[in-house]
Amino acid sequence: MKIESDVIIIGAGPVGCVLANKISNELKLNCLIIEKRNHIAGNCYDEYNSKGLLYHKYGPHYLRFKNRKTLNYLSKFTKWIPGNYIVKSVIDKKLYPMPINLETLEMFFQKKFKSKKDVINFLNKKKTKIKNPKNFEEFVLSKLGKEIYEKFYKNYTIKQWGMSPKKLSKEIAGRLPIRFNRNPYYVKEKLRFMPKKGFTEMFKKMINNKKIKVKLNCDFHKIRNKIRFKHFMIYTGEPDRYFNFKYGKLDWRSLIFRFKNYKKNRIQKFVQYNYPNDFNFTRTVEIKHVTNQKSKYTVISKEYPTNRGDPYYPLSDKKNLKLFDKYEKLILKENKRNIFFEGRLAKYKYFNTDEVIESSLKLFKNLKIRYKKSK
Ligand SMILES: Cc1cc2nc3c(=O)[nH]c(=O)nc-3n(C[C@H](O)[C@H](O)[C@H](O)COP(=O)(O)OP(=O)(O)OC[C@H]3O[C@@H](n4cnc5c(N)ncnc54)[C@H](O)[C@@H]3O)c2cc1C
Repeated sequence: MKIESDVIIIGAGPVGCVLANKISNELKLNCLIIEKRNHIAGNCYDEYNSKGLLYHKYGPHYLRFKNRKTLNYLSKFTKWIPGNYIVKSVIDKKLYPMPINLETLEMFFQKKFKSKKDVINFLNKKKTKIKNPKNFEEFVLSKLGKEIYEKFYKNYTIKQWGMSPKKLSKEIAGRLPIRFNRNPYYVKEKLRFMPKKGFTEMFKKMINNKKIKVKLNCDFHKIRNKIRFKHFMIYTGEPDRYFNFKYGKLDWRSLIFRFKNYKKNRIQKFVQYNYPNDFNFTRTVEIKHVTNQKSKYTVISKEYPTNRGDPYYPLSDKKNLKLFDKYEKLILKENKRNIFFEGRLAKYKYFNTDEVIESSLKLFKNLKIRYKKSK
């Protein structure tokens, strides 16, 4: 039996939901979303646990926006609560602000800095002199020096990625800001909001349209021979799998999440504690700090990095980026057949949620032009 629709979308994550919403509303086309998990919302999925606590099943999602347009688009589907995400690194039993800011440096070096110039002069003496840092380790050493690198970055990175920071790209280190002020927030964007009733509710509203059908528990690769689309297909899964691993397998880093409920209002003072040097988990998260739920219970998650399991973080080292380049050439050929690859898995690139939503809205603009031309 054939599986047919005007548009077929593989994956009900943020990308799949945004494109189904735009295509069904503006182009008035029928969309069929095929999702292998038993729920929508991709890795942003949140649900209520046995104690009635809203928790993030695939790790905490601290939503923020680079661009007000993306926030305005999502505001059609949710109300917001402020997202004041504060993260601490636990080092020798003390809580240090993370990302590194003026307070972290003052606490760590037990020194008061009078001005930005003062701290820059101090760090200039601490920094390792490396002209063109080539990897994660060199990047941090060249910005903050050996003491901070070893206490805050080195072991966390080894745990998180399962490899030496020398093998990781400097771009990964560059994702975390270094601040010479006292800004305590985890992310640099000023637009920080959480969907008031959670992510799943927001995406549910987005795809609430008679023209959109969702088929859950269905792996595209098991039914791909039966699929027929009239206008477009959008694929948000792993690219190597799509092409039957023609050039080999792309590597990903995964996580195991362990959740524990407590009959207590709060356990931590802040939403997230990083443990660079202790334990084999990387961080503990008490999501109640950002969902703002009132309950006599709370839930703590611990994250254990692993190479097995769901693909979460692309391992963007040289070997894998070269391999992805080869797949990208095949993707361009698929575009000519009106098959488009979008999102975090399909583009083999770590994107935040607002970024994939923005690029899905851009893809929609292209699809709209193609569709109008074809009529
Ligand atoms: C641990 C973790 C923490 C994160 N924290 C943040 C954060 O704090 N803030 C933030 O903004 N972003 C965060 N993100 C990023 C965010 O999750 C992604 O940007 C977003 O989910 C990407 O949307 P997507 O639709 O591209 O992919 P996904 O959310 O991964 O959705 C893809 C969907 O496609 C489905 N699929 C894949 N292959 C197939 C197939 N063969 N057949 C059928 N279905 C398939 C998958 O099951 C999945 O549901 C985090 C991500 C991770 C992994």
